[in-house]
Amino acid sequence: MNFYVMTLFPDMVINCLSESITGRAIKNGLINVEAVNIRDFATNKYKHVDDYIYGGGSGMLMQAEPVYLAYKHIMESMENTEKTPRVLYMTPQGKTFNQSMAQEFSQEENLIFLCGHYEGIDERVLEMIVTDEVSVGDYVLTGGEIPAITIIDAVSRLVPGVLGKDDSALYESFYDGLLEYPQYTRPEEFMGKKVPEVLLSGHHKNIEKWRYDMSLERTRIKRPDLYEKYLKEHGDGQGKIQRN
Ligand code: SAM
Repeated sequence: MNFYVMTLFPDMVINCLSESITGRAIKNGLINVEAVNIRDFATNKYKHVDDYIYGGGSGMLMQAEPVYLAYKHIMESMENTEKTPRVLYMTPQGKTFNQSMAQEFSQEENLIFLCGHYEGIDERVLEMIVTDEVSVGDYVLTGGEIPAITIIDAVSRLVPGVLGKDDSALYESFYDGLLEYPQYTRPEEFMGKKVPEVLLSGHHKNIEKWRYDMSLERTRIKRPDLYEKYLKEHGDGQGKIQRN
């Protein structure tokens, strides 16, 4: 899967994604991340990419032309463009990113990210190239790089082979609409606190039931919104999760 990131801070994106699991996926050729510096496409002598905002107001706005030229460069460099790739503009005005959007994006072969800075980007180029506006939450960041990194990370771990075991994303929070059950590792007792007995029993069916019950209870307490949604979709939910 190929991720193209249009940004004024390419090192930020590449350095971050070169670490840990995404870094290994890049090395193994499972994902490819290319950061395209919008500043390289400035046509003026001083490589300015921003200017004052028409109508007044504080701050500067990224200009349309370098963004458009960076986009054109990516499109021309793509080998397989049978399907026009989606262009995701990182903006607090977009649809709030979630796990089902990560699933949807992971089906794409190419994804282009557009990261704004300053007060954002000239509306005209957004109208021309953007297919999806995506937010990472109801707060304002200084730039779109951290949102793009967040989304690339969440999408990458759904690409087959990126996680150690192909199915390890299956049982995590949000996958089936519930939060994940509590987990424990060695030792069996830590400062007087013991691992729940059932997990040491080796009884597969009982362990599955305990995990399901804990998932349900956890979701009810921590995320009543998700819990209500789950109940609506699954009735009382009893025995709905098949985890083997
Ligand atoms: N003036 C813009 C507005 O009110 O909608 C906010 C601009 S923000 C300071 C600069 C850039 O950061 C945006 O263009 C966007 O790319 C990114 N950004 C900020 N908050 C974000 C969020 N919650 N989700 C996604 N991107 C965000």
